[in-house]
Amino acid sequence: MSTPTLRTDRATLQEADRTDVLAGFRERFSLPEGVIYLDGNSLGPLPLGAAERAAEVINNEWAHGLIRSWNTAGWFELPTRLGDKLAKLIGGNDGETVVTDTTSLNLFKALASAVRIQQQDAPGRRVILTERDNFPTDIYIAEGISDFLNSVKAETGEHYEVRLIDENLSLADALDDSVAVVALSHVNYRTGAMWDMAGVSAAAHAAGALVIWDLAHAAGAVPVDLNGANADYAVGCTYKYLNGGPGSPAFIWVNARHQGRFWQPLTGWWSHSAPFAMADSYTAANDVRRFLCGTQPITSMAMIECGLDVSLEADMGQVRAKSLALTDLFISLVEERCGQFGLELITPANHAERGSHVSFSHPEGYAIIQALTDRGVIGDYREPGVLRFGITPLYLSYTDIWDAVEILRDILETGSWDVPAYKARNAVT
Ligand SMILES: *Cc1c(COP(=O)(O)O)cnc(C)c1O
Repeated sequence: MSTPTLRTDRATLQEADRTDVLAGFRERFSLPEGVIYLDGNSLGPLPLGAAERAAEVINNEWAHGLIRSWNTAGWFELPTRLGDKLAKLIGGNDGETVVTDTTSLNLFKALASAVRIQQQDAPGRRVILTERDNFPTDIYIAEGISDFLNSVKAETGEHYEVRLIDENLSLADALDDSVAVVALSHVNYRTGAMWDMAGVSAAAHAAGALVIWDLAHAAGAVPVDLNGANADYAVGCTYKYLNGGPGSPAFIWVNARHQGRFWQPLTGWWSHSAPFAMADSYTAANDVRRFLCGTQPITSMAMIECGLDVSLEADMGQVRAKSLALTDLFISLVEERCGQFGLELITPANHAERGSHVSFSHPEGYAIIQALTDRGVIGDYREPGVLRFGITPLYLSYTDIWDAVEILRDILETGSWDVPAYKARNAVT
């Protein structure tokens, strides 16, 4: 075990909280008493004002405005208006992002769009490259679109396939002249490992491929500069670090150089150049609205703005600095105080390779997470044997990290996790 870099005590951390420039953001969220919430990377907490915003949409814009609200309350512009706001957090410019649909659906559209561009620019490239350790939906969607393309092209012999980077196949070795698209998660959902977005994007381009970034665990969590990295497409969630609410619509970004020429197959009327002309055939909008499909879930989408506004007020450099300080603290405290209990760090120690969550593996990870939850420390469990802790600088303090590790230590020391109720695998987390 490595020597902890930070030996500290609770009083020292209370002092760190007093001088924390981001400390005031905690008051912007409604968090239950007695809970240390280490799962904001899965479902962010309620921002103050979001419930009132939802009530306004329902009681005023819907109840009184009725159909007029599509115009008078700006419902129709919501996907692009929120997209422009969100773009500021991911290095996008105005007009490059829409908030819509789910991350899974948006990945499907981005992949279809990238494949179509490559069919024109680099015919013959038919590999979608992703990684075995990617979030399952990303692999499933890549397989789904590949299967669909193959079913359509069955008679021509053109065969699409998904190639997976893993411990036996590096990115560099996988990137040959058959790769059409590289689709990776910027921050790995399980380990918290982070790809070098600019470096990978440059390598993909040098190899003749386009690149799609899934920012589910990156947007609002780490500094992201899509245009700086010259990426092609990006997708991501708003209900994780952006605190948009359960199932809030996702986002999709496209580099301006592809706008006006890409095609995506979900050609619903909201992506038409003139939706209300009710034309009898399809003409794609000439801008990022091409990525829309049908009518949007307005109440859920409206709430996203509340979380976005909080994130936009925070300085991302300060968020990143505190995220690294808190993740360093968490790692060193667990090593120092829980070292003898067999938790193995699977998150990179190197700052440049770490997102904003920390994961440990332990054969009894599932039961330990249930015991922690019962004591008010909410993290989550991911197969196989992974305890995952989201570290969100806007509402977590240094003393929260101390207290969470003390409860973890107590659970491990007393073995209180070792009871049937915690070991029975029936919970959805
Ligand atoms: C959370 C997450 C998703 C979720 O996709 P949904 O369509 O919102 O269910 C997708 N990809 C990654 C990498 C994720 O972490």
